[in-house]
Amino acid sequence: MHFDFSERTQDYIQRVSDFMDAHIFPNVETYRRQHDEVGRWNIPPIVEELKAKAKAEGLWNLFLPPNAEHDTPDYHGAGLSNLEYAPLAELMGRVSFGSEVFNCAAPDTGNMEVLHRYGSTAQKEEWLKPLLAGEIRSAFLMTEPQVASSDATNIETRIERDGDEYVINGRKWWSSGVGDPRCKVAIVMGKTDLNAPKHAQQSQILVPMDAPGIEVVRMLPVFGYDDAPHGHAEVVLKDVRVPVDNLILGEGRGFEIAQGRLGPGRIHHCMRTIGAAEVALEKMCRRLLSREAFGKPVAEHSIWEQRVAEARTDIEMTRLLTLKAAYMMDTVGNKVAKNEIAMIKVAGPRVACKVIDDAIQAHGGGGVTSDYGLAESYAGIRTLRLADGPDEVHCRTIAHNEFRKYRDKNYGKTVDAEKMTEVVGSR
Ligand SMILES: Cc1cc2nc3c(=O)[nH]c(=O)nc-3n(C[C@H](O)[C@H](O)[C@H](O)COP(=O)(O)OP(=O)(O)OC[C@H]3O[C@@H](n4cnc5c(N)ncnc54)[C@H](O)[C@@H]3O)c2cc1C
Repeated sequence: MHFDFSERTQDYIQRVSDFMDAHIFPNVETYRRQHDEVGRWNIPPIVEELKAKAKAEGLWNLFLPPNAEHDTPDYHGAGLSNLEYAPLAELMGRVSFGSEVFNCAAPDTGNMEVLHRYGSTAQKEEWLKPLLAGEIRSAFLMTEPQVASSDATNIETRIERDGDEYVINGRKWWSSGVGDPRCKVAIVMGKTDLNAPKHAQQSQILVPMDAPGIEVVRMLPVFGYDDAPHGHAEVVLKDVRVPVDNLILGEGRGFEIAQGRLGPGRIHHCMRTIGAAEVALEKMCRRLLSREAFGKPVAEHSIWEQRVAEARTDIEMTRLLTLKAAYMMDTVGNKVAKNEIAMIKVAGPRVACKVIDDAIQAHGGGGVTSDYGLAESYAGIRTLRLADGPDEVHCRTIAHNEFRKYRDKNYGKTVDAEKMTEVVGSR
C-alpha cells in the first residue's frame, strides 16, 4: 500500500489549486456582490465567466469516471477515476460555488452519470449533451413530504402509461436546483406498477421543467438560508405528460438506477465536505492565534490544543477512509464498495459539522453571524446528514454487514466464535 497520488493526479491537483487561487478565491466577493445586484434567483455573471475559463483549461467534467462501455467521442468526462477525482472535489468544496465552475456540481453530476450509463441515444442527445457542455442544469425529484422517503419503496408519485405518453401525478419536496433558471430537466422517481414486487414498482423518467402541470409551490429554507440561486423546491406534478421515450432504462428499473446514481454522488459530497472542514479548521486556527484572553493567546488555552488536534485527526481519518472508498469503487465496483461508501457518508458530514461547530465557538459571537461564512457552512453541511439518505439508513447497511459476519458461520472465520463464547461464558 502506498499513499502517493499518481503523477497525473498531482498535475490535476496543481492545476485545480492554481485555478482556485487565481480565479475563484479572488471572486468570492464578486459573486456575493453580483448576487445582490442580479436578484437572488438569477445567476451572478461571474459564474459563467469562470466556467468558460475552466473549460478552456481542460478542467471540466472531472467527476465522470472513464466507462469503456458508455464513453463515446460525444459523451465522456475527463477520464479520471474516483480516486483521482477525490482530492480535486475536496479543493472545489472550499468555496460554495467552486464545483459548479468545473461543471462538477450536484445534482447534475448524479444525473449526468445516470444518463451516461443508462440513457438512450436520444435521451443523451437531448439532455446529456447540454449538461456536459454546462449549458443547462437539472434536478432529481425523489423525496415526498407525505411519506418517509428514506425508504424509497414508500414513494407514491404515479407514472401511468396512456398511449404514447406517461402521465405523472405527485408531490415532491427538497428538489434541489429547481430555483436555478438554467434548470431545464428533472429526473423524477415514481411508481409505474403498484402490483409489481416491492422493488420493481418504481421507475425514473425525464421531465422537462417547462412541461405543463409542473408547479413550484415554494422554495424551502435551510435553517433560514434560501440557498439561492440553486434552492430546494416543493413541486407539484399534476397530469404532467411526457413521451414514453422519456422513461430511463425501462419500467420497474428505478431502484437499479438509484443504486448506480447514489454511490458516486455520496462520495462526491464527502470529498467536498472534507474541503469545508479544512476551511473551518484554518479559520479556527487563525482566529485562536489572533486574540488574547486571560493573559495569553486563546490558542494557548489547552482546551483549544485538544480541539484543534482532534479536528486534524478526524479530518485525516475521514480523508483516508474516503480515498479507500474511492479506490474500491474504481477497483471492485460501487456494489462491493457499498459498506465503505456508507461509512464515509456518515463520517464525512459528522466530522465536518464538529469541526465547523468548534470553529464557530472559536469566533465567539462572530461565529454565528454571516461575517465568517461559518454559520452558512454549518447549515449546508448539516443537511448532508439527511440528504442522500439519513445517517441511520447508512448505519443500517454497516451494521447489517457487521452482524452478517457472526450470523454466517462460514464468513471469514479468523476467530473461533464458539470457543470465544465459551471463554466469555465461563467467566
Ligand atoms: C438540503 C437538502 C437537499 C436535498 N436534496 C434532495 C434532492 O435533490 N432530491 C431528493 O429527492 N431529495 C433531496 N433531499 C431529501 C433527502 O434525501 C431526504 O430528506 C432524506 O432521504 C430523508 O427522507 P425524509 O426527509 O422523508 O425523512 P424520513 O424518511 O421521514 O426520515 C426521518 C428520520 O427518521 C429516521 N429514520 C429513517 N430510517 C431509519 C432507520 N432505518 N433507523 C432509524 N431511524 C431512521 C432518521 O432519523 C430520519 O432522519 C434533500 C434534503 C435536504 C435536507
